Amino acid sequence: MQYKLQTIIKISKVLSSEVNKILPPVDVIRECALLAQTNKNIREINIGHTEKGHPIKAYEFGNGKSPVLFYGFPDPGEAIGGTTILSLLRALSEGNKFLSSLDITWHFIPCLNFDDQPNEGKILSNVFRDPNIREVDWCVSNPRSETTALLNYAKTISPLLTLTLHDEYHSGASMPVYVIPTREIQPDTAEQIRACLKSFGFKFNSKYHHKTMGEGFETLANIIVTWGVDKEDYNNSTFKQLTKYGLVAGSELSQQEGITPSVLVAAQIAISLILINSVLI
Ligand SMILES: [Zn+2]
Repeated sequence: MQYKLQTIIKISKVLSSEVNKILPPVDVIRECALLAQTNKNIREINIGHTEKGHPIKAYEFGNGKSPVLFYGFPDPGEAIGGTTILSLLRALSEGNKFLSSLDITWHFIPCLNFDDQPNEGKILSNVFRDPNIREVDWCVSNPRSETTALLNYAKTISPLLTLTLHDEYHSGASMPVYVIPTREIQPDTAEQIRACLKSFGFKFNSKYHHKTMGEGFETLANIIVTWGVDKEDYNNSTFKQLTKYGLVAGSELSQQEGITPSVLVAAQIAISLILINSVLI
């Protein structure tokens, strides 16, 4: 662990300071492509296509020791991650000193699942998942093309940490936060994430209380049982596949009264940087 929590909190706020709204997929995709066109240090890669044939792109930056993978828009309207990725990619392209100082190769998939986004990806709206549509992260045994694109790309980069940017933004409801790593993380790392998000004004979901990680944390394999999902389904998830390379973690942030889009993005960035700081450096 290299950086103090206060440093990460400050950096996360700076990195999200220009966010005034959470962007829809089309805007995120366009802005990431523009950054890649104007900055030769960003590598744009075609990693596959959606079921309906939309290209899925990844953007890479740096040549550090530890590969870290972020992917956004995994499910309909789960939109915070797209703006988080754009904020990080923009800061990297502008030579942000803190991000550049980390010994990391950054891998971003701004929009994994374009097909299922509301309003053809042009406008965000509150939406719930259609139970008849297979979720890209939960169909490894009979994969969608998005699932294959993600797993094939991960195979080429072996990410030591994957930030799977699911969220509860799509519902429009205000819910307390919870964090779901694939394995137990150190109690002090969990405590840092809690302290950081509480300082931003978030409440934690006390329904989940892991014995060592504490309030608002549970491992993925355990949490799905509380959702009524069969324990065996974990084996059918991309998350399980990605644990071959390292830790996989997600968090469930939602819209909250008094929490601006900028703070939502700051929270997602902070969780990512705290995990990078404690797991990789
Ligand atoms: Zn989701």
